[in-house]
Amino acid sequence: SEKLLEVKDLKTYFPIQNGLFGRSTKYVKAVDGVSFDVYKGETLGLVGESGCGKSTTGRSIMRLIEPTEGKIIFDGKDISSLNKKQMLKIRREMQMIFQDPFSSLNPRKMVKEIIGAAFEIHMSSMRKKEREEEVAKLLEVVGLNPDYITRYPHEFSGGQRQRIGIARSLALKPKLIIADEPVSALDVSIQSQVLNLLNKLQKQFSLTYIFIAHDLSVVRHLSDRVGVMYLGKIVELTDANRLYTKPAHPYTKALLSAIPIPEIGVKRERIILEGDVPSPINPPNGCRFHTRCPKCMDICKEKEPDFKDIGDKHYVACHLVNG
Ligand code: SF4
Ligand code: MG
Repeated sequence: SEKLLEVKDLKTYFPIQNGLFGRSTKYVKAVDGVSFDVYKGETLGLVGESGCGKSTTGRSIMRLIEPTEGKIIFDGKDISSLNKKQMLKIRREMQMIFQDPFSSLNPRKMVKEIIGAAFEIHMSSMRKKEREEEVAKLLEVVGLNPDYITRYPHEFSGGQRQRIGIARSLALKPKLIIADEPVSALDVSIQSQVLNLLNKLQKQFSLTYIFIAHDLSVVRHLSDRVGVMYLGKIVELTDANRLYTKPAHPYTKALLSAIPIPEIGVKRERIILEGDVPSPINPPNGCRFHTRCPKCMDICKEKEPDFKDIGDKHYVACHLVNG
């Protein structure tokens, strides 16, 4: 199937301020050489603990944060070097849904203004009445009463607010939606409703998703493929079924051991990782996971494993599997 997005060796570093006038020589290497493709119509899950760089990856693709290095090819076009004005056009086609439906909606604006803003920016010839009709339609699409267009964010529950965030992301008929932990802030009972909605909308509007989550169980039912991130890198990327049944990277195995997967009858042992995630300012030499890896070998401390296809587009960065 066709590629909608190609991310090539993406790096996003943030300088650390050294004192008031100090020039910074140190960087937080939030994303440190990430490559992956996203195919039209699929959902790619991107999973990892907080601070692994998954949100920064999403924001760098949208260029809400400027990447330090690397290429981003969207719909056949290299967008990594576009200026702000050129990027504005592209941004119609890639939208983001944010984690926190409470802080991502302006509390002083009515729903018709929040969602309608996209039309004001990108379709300035659209008249006010038309804009409001479009907003009402969008509310229906996400399962909200179209009469709510004159309400304010505080009048909604968390789940409803996230639906408003989703409606806003759909306004300009994007091709790609990057959803950054869209259900993490919601009650468990509401989470599956929002996930079902995202699933339905994907089919209805032929959307492609990058779905960011910190937990492998959340992305399981939605993702076609899943990438696992650790300390600014993707350590494993493959078909979702394969990842959940035949994980190859020790980190993925540890993450999976922490969640229940009822379909897999084998009794799995919980793998407890020792220690904390090291600092992204000075990531460990060799394999970045070596300080916590239960399978660590001598070579792991010196040589960084390549991110290699071990068969059927199952990519893994580990000396155990790619020697
Ligand atoms: Fe563990 Fe070595 Fe594989 Fe890294 S390369 S995950 S330290 S076995
Ligand atoms: Mg995040």
